[in-house]
Amino acid sequence: MSAARAAIYVHLPFCPYICPYCDFAKWAYDGAAATRYLAALDAEIAAAPDVRGTTLFFGGGTPNTYEPAQLAALTARLRARFGLADDAEVTLEINPDLALCTGFAELRAAGITRLSIGVQSFVPDELRVLGRRHAPADVTEVVRRARAAGFENISIDLMFGVPGQTEVGWRQSLDAALALEVQHLSAYGLTIEDGTPYARWFAREPAAFADDTREADLYALAIDRLGAAGFEHYEISNFARPGFRCAHNENYWRNGDYLGLGVGAASYRDGVRSVHTRDRETYAGAALANAPIPGETERLAGDERVGEAIMLALRMREGVDTAAFRERYGVDVRTRYRSAIERMEADGLLQSGAAFVRLTERGRFVANDVCAAFL
Ligand code: SF4
Repeated sequence: MSAARAAIYVHLPFCPYICPYCDFAKWAYDGAAATRYLAALDAEIAAAPDVRGTTLFFGGGTPNTYEPAQLAALTARLRARFGLADDAEVTLEINPDLALCTGFAELRAAGITRLSIGVQSFVPDELRVLGRRHAPADVTEVVRRARAAGFENISIDLMFGVPGQTEVGWRQSLDAALALEVQHLSAYGLTIEDGTPYARWFAREPAAFADDTREADLYALAIDRLGAAGFEHYEISNFARPGFRCAHNENYWRNGDYLGLGVGAASYRDGVRSVHTRDRETYAGAALANAPIPGETERLAGDERVGEAIMLALRMREGVDTAAFRERYGVDVRTRYRSAIERMEADGLLQSGAAFVRLTERGRFVANDVCAAFL
């Protein structure tokens, strides 16, 4: 029997500095710790289940705190171990710190096909508030270097709802990203994560942060601006030029299987969701000892599995394909959730037909509330 297919995610958790809003599993770069972590990752890769990789995604943290040669070697190992096709989508998240953006030709030659740049803003004051250390002009230079090295699939992350952000500033960031002619854009609303410096700031001074109405206005601005520029709004926070959706993330939203490697990484295989410990030393110690990585595991079954699949599908422009859903989960969504669907259709949040249930434009603004009705 051939190995099951899964998207492969690899977490590289070191960063050149720590941003005050961030809740990811991440640490300030330390050479010895980064080397030990890479050895742990190697051990985990060797011991990983035999799956056939469809896409590969290096997230973080800041993956480009590692040297290009290290990333190229890691990519080669993963490609061989999981049998990725030559033309598989391989994404590397990068920080546009110019000192870390070298060796792009080596990365491209290693089969990395896509760069996702954590820009967040092109407005110097906003970058300062976010604790980001790059300048807007650095992003232009990073994109130039990437193109010169042969990257033709570049994504930029932007953030709205930043304290002090004006509509003019948000438009400036969107326009600057568009001017770089990238293929993909992610626009995320700032979320306040417990335990971060931003959470403490919010507790002291909530008025410094955008409220829901303001966030909705900024989100609407992004939808208008990017739509007018020819980007397809294919997922709540994601916009792509035709043919440039992120295949790796689409697999998540289609409730496909994925294998996560590294500290804090999540996996979903055969209806079982698991997540590795977020304690780096616990992770590294276990991986290097060839012991199971501590973490949590839960089997999603019945209504929970169905609700989760609907919630994920609704994030996408196409929504739930009801026939495919019935075949895969044995559930007729329109019958099972009739009253919730009718209520939200009446409120203008959902739209349904014989073959689909999807969010309306308005529904996308309150997607979490709509999705909650299916959980
Ligand atoms: S936002 Fe990105 S660069 Fe900043 S600390 Fe978090 S993972 Fe690191």
